[in-house]
Amino acid sequence: MRPRHVLAVALGLVLLVAGCGEQARTTPRADRPTATATPSASLAPALTPTPAPRPTRTTPRRPPLRPKPTTLPAGLSRTTGVRGVALTFDDGPDPTWTPKVLDQLRAARVSATFCVVGIQVRKYPALVARMVREGHQLCNHSWRHDMDLGRRPVAEIRADMVRTNQAIRAAVPGAKVPFFRQPGGRWTPEEVVVARQLGMRPLHWSVDPQDWAKPTMPTIVHRVEAAARPGAVILMHDGGGDRGGTLAACPHLISNLKRRFGIVRLR
Ligand SMILES: [Zn+2]
Repeated sequence: MRPRHVLAVALGLVLLVAGCGEQARTTPRADRPTATATPSASLAPALTPTPAPRPTRTTPRRPPLRPKPTTLPAGLSRTTGVRGVALTFDDGPDPTWTPKVLDQLRAARVSATFCVVGIQVRKYPALVARMVREGHQLCNHSWRHDMDLGRRPVAEIRADMVRTNQAIRAAVPGAKVPFFRQPGGRWTPEEVVVARQLGMRPLHWSVDPQDWAKPTMPTIVHRVEAAARPGAVILMHDGGGDRGGTLAACPHLISNLKRRFGIVRLR
């Protein structure tokens, strides 16, 4: 009896240790605090017939390509204020892509807002003149697409914005620049104030198909059409790289948006 009792205790200890080990392996990691809080995936198939279980775990939600800014300061324009949506094109003017975008807008009889970069304006002033001549709005997008502009001293923020507006007005005397858009959307409250002091509204967006990362044309079309709501401000790019996908997407999404909401000029 006694040796058998010792054996049972020893076996119990072994199982206990093994159990602790398993528990240690399944302890939720700090970076996935909700992993064990959700119902076990193994319970679901009992309720609904499903094909053979997948060999891998459910893939986590795909992270955005560009990390979203943690918080946006108050006072940004993100919608048109009316039912119609607005198209905005960033990072030009570009000698290859901007004329083609302008051709499409003219053919579709819609106007857009171009968020232009100072050094590009200095190189291609005739394209800025064409934007204005064809009824489009201009938006200051910093002198050299400075992603950290908002984090610089206020005097530097102001000087950058003023210099960019001067380049725009050298291209188009007396041009109105009613908007400023921070590159990458990395706004700070300070630059919102400075932009307003210079007579520019801080223009953000509500639809971002991330066309800068060169997804395929159908992907750009789908992202815009799926995310568009009344009053949307849609972010796309006519500069900063090969914009073939954006250009090919434009006829499709422009006709879709015109039909569903109408496309308006920002004001
Ligand atoms: Zn940009």
